[in-house]
Amino acid sequence: MVYNKKTIEDIAVKGRNVLVRCDFNVPIKDDVITDETRLTGAIPTINYLIENGARVILCSHLGKPKGEPKPELSLKPVARRLAELLNREIVFAADDIVVGENARKAVAEMVDGDVVLLQNVRYRVEETENKEAFSRELASLAEIFVNDAFGTAHRAHCSTVGVTHFLDTCVCGYLMQKELKYLGEAVANPQRPFVAILGGAKISDKIKVINNLLEKVDSLIIGGGMAYTFLKAQGYEIGSSLLEEEKMAYALEMVAKAKERSVKLLLPVDNICGDSFSADAKTVVTDDENIPSGFMGMDIGPRSVKIFKEELNDAKTVVWNGPMGVFEFAGFAGGTLAIAATLAELEATTIIGGGDSVAAVNQLGFGKKMSHISTGGGASLEFLEGKVLPGIDACNDK
Ligand code: AMP
Repeated sequence: MVYNKKTIEDIAVKGRNVLVRCDFNVPIKDDVITDETRLTGAIPTINYLIENGARVILCSHLGKPKGEPKPELSLKPVARRLAELLNREIVFAADDIVVGENARKAVAEMVDGDVVLLQNVRYRVEETENKEAFSRELASLAEIFVNDAFGTAHRAHCSTVGVTHFLDTCVCGYLMQKELKYLGEAVANPQRPFVAILGGAKISDKIKVINNLLEKVDSLIIGGGMAYTFLKAQGYEIGSSLLEEEKMAYALEMVAKAKERSVKLLLPVDNICGDSFSADAKTVVTDDENIPSGFMGMDIGPRSVKIFKEELNDAKTVVWNGPMGVFEFAGFAGGTLAIAATLAELEATTIIGGGDSVAAVNQLGFGKKMSHISTGGGASLEFLEGKVLPGIDACNDK
């Protein structure tokens, strides 16, 4: 899907009330935000709006309060930290009903350049049901809507889609624009060779991604737990590795599709195996694809790393989603580490497609070396599946 949506730079914002849907769904422990990536990601849009004299009303969800006010999922810590990051006052409108007395008063008192943060939109049960009344309430605060929450763009909720039915001007923020630029160009118009790397636990989560990417890429590398269903389907022994038996036929279909389209499909040719799913499992490295009984494949082996690296060396565009092994255990992180290190050195557009691969890349210290790290796990997968994302679709076309 190619999007050509209006952005904040295409509209006049001075003196206007602008409702910005951000993704402030940050991890919080003991009132402290433990990963600020999503806050810092939102700053460019907020700063642009402040500098251009808008009256900025921020909203977001946090966690899953399931339609009830839960104090531990209040956005208060976000308001506090955001005020520090922006170096200005932020009025936190702490209404349990989100658009309540505090919010209305705060918005009525705003002057140009002011910032108000609303309470967690998922305190309202209607939010995830995309109900009209709450959408209207949100829209009633503003004249313009900006969607900068790529992470929830695949969901049609009141604060991502419903609200756009009641405001004429709905545009994308900078963070959304960046996601569309990298993911959009990779999928629609990639510089070639275009290599995708898929890993992680399950084929079933990424079935449509595999299918869609096989129509776009020059090579597809498959590692992680999902590789073993492919290997088993091709007649190899996989011991007690992850297996989705009902997906074996599909795996063979994908192997055939790759051949038909002349896409190079690379699977592990050796494995690092453990005798149990634990950090201190007894390990063996296999000579080939086959895994002995009593062992499970928990990382790609050294020959696979070498072959995958060689394939990546010439790539001009790389999209990566899902670790090559159980990277959470040091003994099985080597494959993921090697792929991350290879990508970090490439003269190519490197895109990390959300979720666990982002955690892996950051944890291993390669975050800054990638061209783009997507802020949305589920959303980036749906993007790579070729689906229309309703939150983006609802913004005005250029
Ligand atoms: P996903 O969310 O689908 O990207 O899956 C990420 C998870 O897959 C991580 O928690 C990894 O530990 C897990 N994973 C990767 N490789 C394997 C494997 N060979 N066996 C079991 N789990 C794996």
